[in-house]
Amino acid sequence: MIDFTEEQIQRYSRHILLQDVGVEGQEKIMNARVLVVGAGGLGAPVSLYLAAAGIGRIGIVDADVVDLSNLQRQVIHFTKDVGLPKVESAKEKILAINPDVKVDTYHEFLYSGNALDIKMTINDDVIQQIIRQAEKDAPEESCGYLLGTADGQVTENYWMENIDHSEEHFSFAPKDQFAALKYARSKNLKILANWHSHPASPSRPSQEDLRLANDPTIRYAILSLLDGKHNLNSFRIVDGQVVDKEIHLANG
Ligand SMILES: [Zn+2]
Repeated sequence: MIDFTEEQIQRYSRHILLQDVGVEGQEKIMNARVLVVGAGGLGAPVSLYLAAAGIGRIGIVDADVVDLSNLQRQVIHFTKDVGLPKVESAKEKILAINPDVKVDTYHEFLYSGNALDIKMTINDDVIQQIIRQAEKDAPEESCGYLLGTADGQVTENYWMENIDHSEEHFSFAPKDQFAALKYARSKNLKILANWHSHPASPSRPSQEDLRLANDPTIRYAILSLLDGKHNLNSFRIVDGQVVDKEIHLANG
């Protein structure tokens, strides 16, 4: 239980008054951590609102510096900040709005020296499970999550329904994503990657995959069944580009 100071009670009074937030809700907000990827058009207002609301710890990843042309929409950066790293400019405004927030800045392109940089390894049992599932679901694309430990060892395949039932793309239902996250947490595992199959195309992201990939912090593993072979590779996709073709996982 956090002991709120007088100042915090006043600062968050409009939250605390809300029946669905209250003191407990504010405490949860203050214990929350959020990583904002990109301090640009979206990251700027998001960071300000998160800070104002009292999120306890905010990380910001951005490799860029503030340009005059950013100011028209990236409202966390001011005229005096032109030329400064966006993460520094953002940090200053976050602390100006709410000095309670702890801010971690990563002035680099996405890699933040945290779990993102771990190397993923996967044992043959899990690979065989994925192959069986993909062959069963063919010609539709099959998909799921690879769960494992924080040091990057994949320990299990978590089946997900491809709600598109398509031969060319896949989607997860939000409720299934939530269930997967809950399951992983209950077993103290992390979601290390999502994977899907390419029943009749190579093991590399399609144009559709590049367009739809929306999580730069996760690996996308693709199992190709082309020509009766099994090829599994993993990729990281940022802003529609493959930035890291990481491991060649299996071939045969
Ligand atoms: Zn694909």
